[in-house]
Amino acid sequence: MFAGRLRVRYNDEIMLDELKKIEQSAREKLANMGDIDATEVLKIQFLGRKGALSLMLRAIKNLPEQERIKTGSAANRLRQELEAAFDKKLAELKKTNHESVLQREWIDVTRPGVKTPRGHLHPLTLVRRDAEAIFHSMGFVTVEGPEVESERYNFDALNIPANHPARDMWDTFWLRSNQKSQKSKVKSQNDGRLLLRTHTSPVQIRYMETHEPPFRIIAPGRVFRYEATDASHEIQFYQLEGLMVDRHVSIANFKFVIQEFLRRLFRKQNLEIRLRPSYFPFVEPGFEVDVACIVCNQKGCSVCKRSGWLEMMGAGMVHQKVFAAVGYVPAEWTGFAFGIGLDRVVMMKYNIPDIRLFHSGDLRFLKQF
Ligand SMILES: [Zn+2]
Repeated sequence: MFAGRLRVRYNDEIMLDELKKIEQSAREKLANMGDIDATEVLKIQFLGRKGALSLMLRAIKNLPEQERIKTGSAANRLRQELEAAFDKKLAELKKTNHESVLQREWIDVTRPGVKTPRGHLHPLTLVRRDAEAIFHSMGFVTVEGPEVESERYNFDALNIPANHPARDMWDTFWLRSNQKSQKSKVKSQNDGRLLLRTHTSPVQIRYMETHEPPFRIIAPGRVFRYEATDASHEIQFYQLEGLMVDRHVSIANFKFVIQEFLRRLFRKQNLEIRLRPSYFPFVEPGFEVDVACIVCNQKGCSVCKRSGWLEMMGAGMVHQKVFAAVGYVPAEWTGFAFGIGLDRVVMMKYNIPDIRLFHSGDLRFLKQF
């Protein structure tokens, strides 16, 4: 940058003046440097092979001897001084840079770690697993069935033919897509329209169609009802279906199994139950199972509506027409079936006032279990 002017005027005074300007400029710029890379670039600008000072030294060669010695030694001294200044600055910058990295990236290895939050099971899952374990210990096995069912499995085979008034007991979600594919057309001709199962009882039919007695099964699962929701009604809830079929199954067998189950589920060894006559099309006789109020111990409270008893489930001895529907010889077999509302059991067990809390996704509720 100084070369053009220097070629024109070979004069030691001008040269010394230029050297001063270079020194002043270099020192000013260097003082403001805060970055290592930029400082390296600046160093090359002044001291590099094509830098300002090298160009000066080259120009000095063309001066007369006296002037050359004078300006040459001044230029060399300046070169050494500037090199030292640059090196000093670079060393300083490297040191502060290193210190700031240490400051920024310092890790206290002795600090306690952050605890990873762990998920846990939904109260419905807890009770379902508990219930399954109790039944498994009594020789029952868990089976599953589809949530989208056909009319035949959900109603007809369970002795609830079309136009039977008992169908009104189950408010049903019917599916509209029945006729869409050829496959479902065939299915709908055989098994009727599709629906969301209103109870877990169709699993009984599916199992009996493919298995020979004797057997003991439970079928926990989600069921759906087309009805208004309130504190004790949801459009989806969980049932646990049970079925035992053998040559000589009696109501006494049922009573023992279910009492044992409830005593262990509620962890109350003297828990009393009672059977009340009731009607379900797929059992004969049918009954409701009540359990002595676990809240008030039969003294009477708002939960049991002062009666001392809580309704737990519907049950009964398997109807002969159901055996006939799955191809069994009805006279040969006896059995009991029951369906427990799991949500209701969980509500009783943990004293939960509103069934809608289960699917609310409210963590304040869920974290209590
Ligand atoms: Zn009570």
